[in-house]
Amino acid sequence: MMPEPPPVSSSCLVCGRPKEPRDLSAASDVRQTLAELIVKDVPDWNESSRICSECLQKYRQLYLTQLLADETGELGELEAEVAQVLSRGALLTPLTAPDDRDESLGFGARMADRVADWGGSWGFILSFVAVLALWMMVNAGGLLVRPFDPYPFILLNLVLSCIAALQAPVIMMSQRRQEAKDRRRAENDYQINLKTELELRQLHEKIDHQLTHQWRRLLEIQRIQVDLLHEMRRARQ
Ligand SMILES: [Zn+2]
Repeated sequence: MMPEPPPVSSSCLVCGRPKEPRDLSAASDVRQTLAELIVKDVPDWNESSRICSECLQKYRQLYLTQLLADETGELGELEAEVAQVLSRGALLTPLTAPDDRDESLGFGARMADRVADWGGSWGFILSFVAVLALWMMVNAGGLLVRPFDPYPFILLNLVLSCIAALQAPVIMMSQRRQEAKDRRRAENDYQINLKTELELRQLHEKIDHQLTHQWRRLLEIQRIQVDLLHEMRRARQ
């Protein structure tokens, strides 16, 4: 004996009312996304079930409402994340901004900077040459009866050696300070770059979200609209 095929009911499974056959849609004609919603309400929903256009319409509206709610929720989450990262990132810059005003420096460091600045200028070279010339003229030119440093200027030699010996550490101090300043500036640059990278990543996420989620959802909404159009045409025929 052949097993009987499951009887094709002529009533809507969802509301249970008998309907005209042309007013019913087969389960195979219902979109997967809508079928998932129907199964939640009507666990008996299967391949041979039928649904009236009224109930189908109800589920379409439910689906669209949920879609919009999901969309708003996801956008809200994304916005919150961006805001959080930016508020965290906004603190990065002021925390480590390099202070070029040197207010935090001690007296010695400031002196070293100033001496090194002056020692590397034309003003220093010219005045140094002038002092040397004056010294030699005074001692060798016969201006004084008893010169305090006669030729070959041994005292001048000693003074020059002392200046050279002091200048080296002063320059080194100033260089070390400059290095620290450069390092702070580099760290600051790094943090700004990091912040930019974070912001870029957020932008990427936003665009990806639009490309994948929103685009797909728009297409799904359009499919439902096309279904509706078909249904309207069928009803008019
Ligand atoms: Zn129904």
